[in-house]
Amino acid sequence: MTTAPLTSAANYDGRALIAGQRVSALSAEVFDCISPVDGRTLTTVARCALADVDQAVAAARRAFDERHWCGMAPAQRKRVMMRFADLLIAHGDELAMMETLDMGKPIKYARVVDVNSAANCIRWYAEAVDKVYDEIAPTPSTALALITREPVGVVGVIVPWNYPMIMAAWKIAPALAAGNSVVLKPSEKSPLTALRMGDLALEAGIPPGVFNVVPGFGAEAGSPLALHMDVDCIAFTGSTRIGKQIHVMAGQSNLKRAWTELGGKSPNIVFADCPNLDKAVEAAVGSIFFNQGESCNAPSRLFVEASIKDRFLEKALVLVPGFAPGNPLDKATVMGAIVDQTQMNTVLRYIETGKTEGAKLLAGGEQVMKESGGCYVQPTIFDGVSNDMTIAREEIFGPVLSVLSFTDAAEVVRQANQSAYGLQAGVWTADLNKAMGVARALRAGTVHVNQYDEDDITVPFGGYKQSGVGRDKSLHAFDKYTETKTTWIRIDSPV
Ligand code: NAD
Repeated sequence: MTTAPLTSAANYDGRALIAGQRVSALSAEVFDCISPVDGRTLTTVARCALADVDQAVAAARRAFDERHWCGMAPAQRKRVMMRFADLLIAHGDELAMMETLDMGKPIKYARVVDVNSAANCIRWYAEAVDKVYDEIAPTPSTALALITREPVGVVGVIVPWNYPMIMAAWKIAPALAAGNSVVLKPSEKSPLTALRMGDLALEAGIPPGVFNVVPGFGAEAGSPLALHMDVDCIAFTGSTRIGKQIHVMAGQSNLKRAWTELGGKSPNIVFADCPNLDKAVEAAVGSIFFNQGESCNAPSRLFVEASIKDRFLEKALVLVPGFAPGNPLDKATVMGAIVDQTQMNTVLRYIETGKTEGAKLLAGGEQVMKESGGCYVQPTIFDGVSNDMTIAREEIFGPVLSVLSFTDAAEVVRQANQSAYGLQAGVWTADLNKAMGVARALRAGTVHVNQYDEDDITVPFGGYKQSGVGRDKSLHAFDKYTETKTTWIRIDSPV
């Protein structure tokens, strides 16, 4: 594989951002930031721990108490955040390259999906700042009750590596728009764009200390943030296993508000009367292989009505070679590298488990491009999967599709819901009654009907059950980062 020269990589600054300054960890410790594209070390990154988190939280608290940001007129806060979004776009090529090198996604998507979505998210919440009104309660005329929303204070944000910029933006945008100060802990597997976003926020005019970034490992930098007595809210996206610990840490410390966006094992149900089989096949295959299958909402359990299953799979297998992994820096590549060796080995282990438990491997199943030094796995499809197999129950977070078949609508809904998760689901049918009935019965935060790719910042994103607590995106996200205050005013009117 020929990899493009990385002219700017040597300049990637891996130091933390605290109180408006790029600083090394107090311990001076660093960790290597290794690219899954070809195994090269991109840079070293500050290995933040308790003492650094303490400093970042203190800076955030100071900034909040000084009110330079939360006390700013909403229209002015909006202008600063709009500049922040503009700067992301202006630095789009640089950020996209960083994201691709850091976590392996194809460059073509890093630019048009990740950079644009992150900027759009920041712009959308900026726009909302001076348009959302507070309330006056319908009380008797002898009193006035104002119901106002106030920022919660210091918000800790912990995010994963699959969409580093977008996951960060979904949380920092509403949190900052509401007037909070933020301490962001990016994943140790993809810390670079978060740090660069911090630089650009400062350049846009977000005051020092309002937005801090502390890179590091979960147990060393994430836990101190979730346990911190001066953090008012912790917003977490990541695995269900760690999400449960976040709620415990919130309870063990100061009962900070804890919001968790967690894993998924989303069912995608295709009935025989599906209005457009080709589209259903394209969506089923395209959605599980997009981002190397490293998407929380990927439809990883495909239920196809038995009478059309063979035809469906024939069409699916024709599409699979189009998703063969390639060099993520090549603009033609649609499937890139798995984020690191550890995650690749996890995916390969699940593939072995699928075979051992009796599922039929129809496509893929192997690590490829080993000579590149990177982490690449073939797009993989298993047929003959049953809902109790490990590959149907557990989130693989890789390019692996499990195909199940069904004959009865009630039974398929029961199986679709028989999961610890409830993030998203899909249903394909030309029968509106069936579509609505199934959509209502599915226990998921989002149900897609006759498509699986609609998405917009205007709609909430989050799950039922162990897919987490709370919703990102839309105006509902403000609920997570604001306290509701009632102020009673006595009116002793002389007239
Ligand atoms: P992860 O839970 O391992 O890590 C997520 C973040 O938590 C990282 O920053 C990590 O350093 C940190 N962390 C790890 N241990 C910690 C600890 N003990 N205390 C505090 N922080 C800790 O998850 P991951 O592998 O980075 O991401 C993949 C997971 O994220 C998948 O389960 C996926 O479904 C989920 N995800 C969910 C959504 C959603 O919106 N529901 C979106 C994207 C990803």
